[in-house]
Amino acid sequence: MIKIVKNAKVFSPKYLGECDLVFDEKILYVGKEISANIFPFDIEIYDAKGLYLIPGLIDPHVHITGGGGEGGFATRTPELKVSDCVRNGVTTVIGCLGTDGITRSLENLYAKAKSLEFEGINTYIYTGSYRIPPITFTGDLMRDLVLIDKVIGVGELAISDHRSSQPTFEEILRIVADTRVGGMISGKPGIVNFHVGAGERGIEFLFYIVDKTEIPISHLYPTHMNRNEKLFESGLEFVKRAGVIDLTALQPTEFGKENTDNDFNSVKAIIKAYENGLIDNITISSDGQGSLPKFDKDGNFLGLSVGSVDAILYTLKKTVEKGIPLEEALKIATSNTAKVFKMNKGYISEGYDADFVLIDFESWEIKNVVSRGCFLMKEGVMKSFIFE
Ligand code: ZN
Repeated sequence: MIKIVKNAKVFSPKYLGECDLVFDEKILYVGKEISANIFPFDIEIYDAKGLYLIPGLIDPHVHITGGGGEGGFATRTPELKVSDCVRNGVTTVIGCLGTDGITRSLENLYAKAKSLEFEGINTYIYTGSYRIPPITFTGDLMRDLVLIDKVIGVGELAISDHRSSQPTFEEILRIVADTRVGGMISGKPGIVNFHVGAGERGIEFLFYIVDKTEIPISHLYPTHMNRNEKLFESGLEFVKRAGVIDLTALQPTEFGKENTDNDFNSVKAIIKAYENGLIDNITISSDGQGSLPKFDKDGNFLGLSVGSVDAILYTLKKTVEKGIPLEEALKIATSNTAKVFKMNKGYISEGYDADFVLIDFESWEIKNVVSRGCFLMKEGVMKSFIFE
């Protein structure tokens, strides 16, 4: 069914001014003052006067089935709720396993991704896991990529972390090579998402792959790159070589307290990338439903809190408050991410998927969300799909 949103101030993420938007599952037209009378049938009209319209946020690293467990079974974290995504403008998630690949399964990850899709948002998953040998559906990463529709890449594979399986360079290289070729065969991007820990080696192995092999840098996608300033600096070097790095968004609260500004964090990282003219190769993810454990310097577990998908919108807000233009900040959660994964998303432009958010930027309150052409909220409340 064709619908129109009228009088919205559109960020594509570039600012287009006040526009009307005609869409079904795809955006059909973006322009000025479209009259509903030109259609020979009834169409749904949403008056967005006073609101901004931005592309739906893409969150490329979410533990949709929960994560955690670093402090024993009592520290397992819960599954993602679709309402948390919708309330925070997230219309696309990529699900992954985390540290625990034993009690969390790929089969469950797949089923959860299907369920979230049924409830209205767009979902993909990574095959593989933290550990090597990787967990797979079919016994082989390349087969997973080729044969399983939702699988978009491999990850999160842990490196330079005390929780990693201490993979060798050759082991990592084989995984990247298989992911690339699996992607080629299936027409997918074939991305390996690396969980980068706080270890001294940082992304050394990724630079070796770029320097010593034929594999293009576009298949390497390290995350948590704002973990500390030194790691982020090496990330900027990676970006200067045309790589893309992912930041972990600032959580509004951690351990029950509002996050303070003191440590190095994603807001500071985004500002630095912007000042260096490198923001086009930066993306952001929430690490939603993952555990955010704290360890002492000897690696002893101190406690954990749970990541939330609301961190992306919160980080964008903090970034804009620090003076980064909205259209630049928006890119890191929309068009930049879509480019990494070759998704037909991330822009408000004809032919792109109709995934967008209507937001009041005075209060940063989300008023409605459209995913694959459907409104997901009614009078500010998430619609229920299961009982409708
Ligand atoms: Zn991680």
